[in-house]
Amino acid sequence: MIPIADAEKILKNIEVKPLKEEVPLTDSLARVLAEDILSTINMPPFDKSAMDGYAYKSGDHSPRFQVVETIAAGDIPKREIKQGQCARIMTGAMLPKGTDRVVKREVVSEEAGIMNIIEEEKVLNVCYKGEDVKIGDRVLKKGTPIRPQEVAILASMGLDNVPVYQEPKVGILTTGSEIVEPGQQLKEGQIFNSNAYSLASQARQMGTSVQYGGIAADNKEGIRESISALFDQNQVVIISGGVSMGDFDFVPGILKDLGVKLYFEKVAVKPGKPTVFGTLKNKFFFGLPGNPVSTFVIFELFVKPFLYRMAGTGFKPRFCRGVMTRDFKRKKTGRTAFIPVFQEDGEVTPIEYHGSAHIYALSGANALMEVPAGMAEVKKGSFVNVRSI
Ligand code: AMP
Ligand code: MG
Repeated sequence: MIPIADAEKILKNIEVKPLKEEVPLTDSLARVLAEDILSTINMPPFDKSAMDGYAYKSGDHSPRFQVVETIAAGDIPKREIKQGQCARIMTGAMLPKGTDRVVKREVVSEEAGIMNIIEEEKVLNVCYKGEDVKIGDRVLKKGTPIRPQEVAILASMGLDNVPVYQEPKVGILTTGSEIVEPGQQLKEGQIFNSNAYSLASQARQMGTSVQYGGIAADNKEGIRESISALFDQNQVVIISGGVSMGDFDFVPGILKDLGVKLYFEKVAVKPGKPTVFGTLKNKFFFGLPGNPVSTFVIFELFVKPFLYRMAGTGFKPRFCRGVMTRDFKRKKTGRTAFIPVFQEDGEVTPIEYHGSAHIYALSGANALMEVPAGMAEVKKGSFVNVRSI
């Protein structure tokens, strides 16, 4: 059994090489930039008016201004503005030569082609060429996850195709002779498969699609075939169940038979002790204990950061700090525990939780409280860090 930190270190040291591809701008959301984006344009590309108003020259204190031109957004101004003159100008339009400021419509009057400034403003109401971005500036960094705001920036740079990392190919397999799919009739001794769907959803929530390999009953041949099928088509294979000490927990043995090098088979974490990780030919295998809370928690702790790295970006779990609203106690302290909690407005409340099979507890939870190995209790009123889920 190894500590969580050692398992994390092992996973971090595994070399992954995300490949690049190009996708249309409209498909780039939730992908990760595979290159720095350098601007090929100035933004704004010209001095432009920030207001609907009148463009004139600073220091021109003429009592009134002759309006010599109207400039709409997209127009190229035709005239140079002289002393005592101005141009009627719209927001986003190019400033004419001879001007460097705009007085907004609200504070002037215009009659018969003559503009009077009623109230001189301090602000210049001009966005200057290149003031946001200059040619050659790095506007986005390689490894940046693309959110709607990054889509806007990419579009503003004129990119219709975006260099992104390929999504990791992930296969999911469920094991267990007692497991049946939702929608089927439950017979005596059987339970519904929830792990395949929670795992797939956790992956999808981070923008990774998955191939589902179905349920393999607890026999060596069947599990071996299902793993091999997923192995052929995916870079990461996640297997639920069959990794603990039971007579029919075949997964670690099968992985070894297939030539997978196992880096760990037990981690000092509760839930999730019999977690398995191994590699074979640039492919990666996670064996997750079948109890639904274990599967969920181990994905959050180990699989998610690894998949993010494969997707070309870093991952930092979101931690919140809060005050315990009640005591938390436990008897066995040999492993670091993750306890479902609800945190809000700086307060942390442990949820009623019966153990790793109690998936219902997770619905009331929005975070996991980490209780380090050796720690038996967390007192009401003490500060704790919790990890958002
Ligand atoms: P295992 O890790 O295979 O020993 O399974 C541990 C517990 O988790 C058993 O009670 C299983 O019935 C349950 N379990 C295993 N796989 C699933 C699954 N896909 N969905 C829900 N529960 C499961
Ligand atoms: Mg099983």
